[in-house]
Amino acid sequence: MNWLLVGASNVAQEWIILAIRAVGDEVTGIVSNDLVRAQDFARKQNIQKFSHDLKHALYDNEVDAVYISSANSLHAEQAMIALKAKKHVMCEKPMALSISDAQQMIEQAKIHQVVLAVNYHLRNSAVIQKIRELIANNCIGEVQNIRFCHAVSLPKNLQSWRIHTPSEGGVILDITVHDIDTLRFLLNDEPISVSAMAQTGVLSPNNVPETVMGTIEFAKGALVSFYDSFTAQYFQTSIDIIGTKGNLQASNTLTQHAIGELHLNNDKGCQRIPIEHHNLYVSSFQQFKNAIQNRGRPAATAYDGLRSLEIALAIQQAIENKKHISLNLGESLCF
Ligand code: NDP
Repeated sequence: MNWLLVGASNVAQEWIILAIRAVGDEVTGIVSNDLVRAQDFARKQNIQKFSHDLKHALYDNEVDAVYISSANSLHAEQAMIALKAKKHVMCEKPMALSISDAQQMIEQAKIHQVVLAVNYHLRNSAVIQKIRELIANNCIGEVQNIRFCHAVSLPKNLQSWRIHTPSEGGVILDITVHDIDTLRFLLNDEPISVSAMAQTGVLSPNNVPETVMGTIEFAKGALVSFYDSFTAQYFQTSIDIIGTKGNLQASNTLTQHAIGELHLNNDKGCQRIPIEHHNLYVSSFQQFKNAIQNRGRPAATAYDGLRSLEIALAIQQAIENKKHISLNLGESLCF
């Protein structure tokens, strides 16, 4: 397949181009809002074509699929243009800033019979997949509580729109959306209520949420506390899952890298679970390619993207209104 990249981004440069090439596909074009940046990116990444006009770039009949990694506020508009041009779309998270935009994207993908997926790469982590398997196999009994720590130190080169522009959603639309998607995947369950509080002012001059702590209640009863931050230095991410028969502790696993450890604690003591790590993004793009060829589904579908967005927006609402928010699953489940 031939890919068009939309957005001369850090994530494309560091991870995605390699992943696309690793599954045997080609990156044939790059579109940026800035023509000079597009040209520079194309030269450095050995990409043949560059443009600052998405519609024009999509006239190229060679393009099969589009990867969107612009700033969050541009995802929906750019995805709609690509979907209307009948291209398969792998969109970065969050897929949109509003539920109605996300729903329209799903509708367009249906109309044009193309695959629309959202790049929740953590579903492809070998540690996350092992936890899901252990929970499904009842190794720790019923899940009662989870403590989800996804706090990082935002690198200097990424301290731009993420902390300057409130409408981009700060840490909630950057990191909390990952938590929500990963938790839905691990528990095979849906959140039913949320509460949260946020902090700002360390990096952001504009009151953009940089740290958020909150709770998510799941339909089958699990209660989750989450801690997401851009400002936690020298800290490792972790997930602790307490079940009725034992618990799981994962460390250093909420990352782009294929790393992390997992321990199972139960009446037999503490056991380190062997993990065979693999590249998370290669897995994302392989599953996306398989879905286009009718051989499975993407790791995270557009519907998964919609769900994580809905729940993240409810968390924003809980913070703004200082209220515990109940979620209505009914409307979106029809997709
Ligand atoms: P970047 O800040 O690197 O890039 C975002 C956009 O900013 C680019 O697409 C580019 O758009 C523009 N840009 C890049 N460099 C400059 C510059 N020097 N001056 C002005 N504008 C610039 O962000 P990330 O790569 O970190 O994130 C991009 C998207 O990917 C986000 O939506 C994020 O949520 C998502 N992401 C997902 C990850 C995952 O693992 N799933 C990991 C990291 C990010 P343009 O070229 O069109 O101007």
